[in-house]
Amino acid sequence: MSIKSICCIGAGYVGGPTCAVIAYKCHDIKVTIVDLNQARIDAWNSDKLPIYEPGLEEVVMARRGKNLFFTTDVDKGIQEADLIFVSVNTPTKKSGLGAGMAADLAYIEAATRRIAQVSKSSKIVVEKSTVPCRTAQSMRTILDANCTENIRFDILSNPEFLAEGTAIKDLMNPDRVLIGALQTPEGIKAQNALVSVYNHWVPIDRCITTNLWSSELSKLAANAMLAQRISSINALSAICEATGADVDEVAYACGRDSRLGSKFLKASVGFGGSCFQKDILNLVYLSTQLNLPEVAAYWKQVVDMNEYQKKRFVQRIISTLFNTITNKKIAVLGFAFKKDTGDTRESAAITLIKDFIQEHARVAIYDPKVEHEQIMMDLTEPGVLDNRKQVEQHVQICGSAMEAADGADALIICTEWDEFKDTNLDYSQIYEKMHKPAFLFDGRLILDAPKLRGMGFKVQVIGKTELA
Ligand code: NAD
Repeated sequence: MSIKSICCIGAGYVGGPTCAVIAYKCHDIKVTIVDLNQARIDAWNSDKLPIYEPGLEEVVMARRGKNLFFTTDVDKGIQEADLIFVSVNTPTKKSGLGAGMAADLAYIEAATRRIAQVSKSSKIVVEKSTVPCRTAQSMRTILDANCTENIRFDILSNPEFLAEGTAIKDLMNPDRVLIGALQTPEGIKAQNALVSVYNHWVPIDRCITTNLWSSELSKLAANAMLAQRISSINALSAICEATGADVDEVAYACGRDSRLGSKFLKASVGFGGSCFQKDILNLVYLSTQLNLPEVAAYWKQVVDMNEYQKKRFVQRIISTLFNTITNKKIAVLGFAFKKDTGDTRESAAITLIKDFIQEHARVAIYDPKVEHEQIMMDLTEPGVLDNRKQVEQHVQICGSAMEAADGADALIICTEWDEFKDTNLDYSQIYEKMHKPAFLFDGRLILDAPKLRGMGFKVQVIGKTELA
């Protein structure tokens, strides 16, 4: 079976870039990305795309209007497609049973119902969203119960492994593409059809085919293991700060072991992003449901360590600033959860700033890619700081690092943007503008601390101390 037309439900951080790259690589396939959010679709059809990713604009502009389309006409998109990616959001439930742990599958359910209700021909339905293991079974039931036409639906799992900030690079040259299917003749036929789409540019040996459930679980497992490495090095960073060991040296020494490898061993103020925490909590919830409490507790510790790391950093800042930050000005450099993205979901900066405000500090924030209104929305979201007035009184959103640093008592590196490196930013001028003593806290290990101490800064770095 050869795929001629693809629809992607969900024009977000995953659906947009993933399907734009498919259109870019497969000129013989019509790719339609649909979303209920009119503003998002309008942005995809404009000069200012709704998300920032290096290389994304070139890919979209090359194919938009040719074989790549963005529309809110969900039904037409579904009807025209041979294959449908379901790439909707699967956030952690905010309330009700399982709140704070279980994935909210309401968007998956709504999209699946819609597919069943409007389809007039057989479809391959692909889980692109990250979902709990055995979600395909629920989708099967929903499809069967809501379709009146005499047509077939084959369900595949094809989780996305792109990382924000390097999405286009990851999609153009993936380590692997994972496609899970029921091991029936029809399931395998559908699996092969999707392999042929990717095979336009992904070598066949990088296309891994598994059963449905292995594929669903592998996505949660991969994210859990990546986050676990970060929590492991962060746990070690606390020991480093107490002993004089240097976390960069420890990470390097460990990473030279070929069994461990060097990637994902960078200590930091903690991981953020929409996926790691959500997917681990999803695994924790799944383990609990499966009556595996020890397994649940094991994975939960990865998230707890991440929270602890953020609190520990805040505590270190406060105690260094003579145990009070009341009325002090704290300049926060970086608000995105990592560099090269404007995405702020679960960003460590949000937790830190909330704590600073609750300790009555004044906070000046600068991020090169996050819009001012997004920062205000994140800080005033229920459960963060509900009161917009309180936030407005305490927070100043700045247009440059220099403006944020003006009159500040402390400068905090929260995101590892290249422009914050000491080779790119004029720290001697920043030092002149700050209150003295001028404190500098590097939560991302991007600065040359001895050089900055030489300028007069009092520098503190995650996982390092001057004890050595
Ligand atoms: P997102 O919130 O950016 O995008 C989801 C989009 O789906 C939204 O624009 C929303 O309006 C749309 N949508 C929801 N229900 C719909 C419906 N019924 N019909 C049409 N549109 C609908 O989310 P995202 O970051 O793209 O993530 C999507 C999925 O991919 C999630 O399951 C996530 O866990 C997973 N994932 C995300 C990343 C990442 O880095 N962001 C990486 C890998 C996997």
